[in-house]
Amino acid sequence: MVDGLRAGNLTKLNPVTDIAANLKVVEDRITAAARRVDREPAEIRLLPVSKTKPPAAVLEAHAAGYRRFGENKVQEAQVKWKALSGHADLEWAVIGHLQTNKAKHVARFATEFQALDSLRLAAELDKRLHAEGRRLEVLVQVNSSNEDQKFGLPPEEVVGFAEQLRAFDALEVRGLMTLALFTDDQARIAKCFERMLQVQRELRDATGEPWNELSMGMSGDFELAIEHGSTCVRVGTAIFGSRGSGDSPETWWPGLFQ
Ligand SMILES: *Cc1c(COP(=O)(O)O)cnc(C)c1O
Repeated sequence: MVDGLRAGNLTKLNPVTDIAANLKVVEDRITAAARRVDREPAEIRLLPVSKTKPPAAVLEAHAAGYRRFGENKVQEAQVKWKALSGHADLEWAVIGHLQTNKAKHVARFATEFQALDSLRLAAELDKRLHAEGRRLEVLVQVNSSNEDQKFGLPPEEVVGFAEQLRAFDALEVRGLMTLALFTDDQARIAKCFERMLQVQRELRDATGEPWNELSMGMSGDFELAIEHGSTCVRVGTAIFGSRGSGDSPETWWPGLFQ
C-alpha cells in the first residue's frame, strides 16, 4: 500500500516544467474546439482548478499568465489565499458545494462562487458580503444530469430561483454552472450541456437579463462543452496532473485539517 503510493509519486508531474506546457496544450485544444463550431476562442475562459495542489503549482500557472484559480474546498482555498497573499492580483473561485455556515469565509476572500444552489446560502453570502464591503460573482449550479448528482438545482426550478436572487445586491449573478454526467458516453454528456442551453434560454426570456456565463466542461469533457456553448471550462487534471491518494494538501501543509 505504502509502496504503491510511493510508486505513484514517481509518475507525478514536475511542476517546474510541466504546468506551463500543459496549459499551452489545453489552450490549443480550447482554440481548436471553438473553431470547429465557429466560436471565438476568446469567448472561453480557462479556469485552472488547483485543488489538492500546493501553492507552488498555483504560482507556476500564475507565471504562465493565469490569475484566477478554482478550488472546491473552502478551508484549502483559504490556506492558499493566505499563503499567496503577496501576489495581489491572484483571485479565487470557489467551485464546490458550500455549507451555509462557511459562507462567511467565502465572503472574505473569494472573487467568484460557482455553486450557488439555495436561497438560504444566497442570503447568508449577501449578508456577509455587505459586512465585508465586498461583492461576489456568482453562478447558479444546475443539476443537468438529474438523478446522478446531489448538488445543484433541478433545471425546472432555476427560473423561479433566479427571480428571488434579485433581492441580494452583493451577488453579481452571471450565469450557470454544471457538472455533466460522469460517463464515457458522449451523447449523454452532450444532453446535459444541451439542457443547460435550454435553461439559459428560459432564463433570458423570463428575466430579460443575459445570463451569459455557462461554466461547463472539465478535463474529460471540455471540448464537447465548448462545442455546446460553454464560456468557462474548469480544468484541473489536464493542467496540474492527476490527484493521487498521496496527493492531499496534508502533504504540503501538515496539520492543515486538524
Ligand atoms: C475538480 C473539479 C473540476 C476539475 O476536474 P478535472 O477533471 O480534474 O479537470 C471541475 N469542476 C469542479 C466542480 C471540480 O470539483
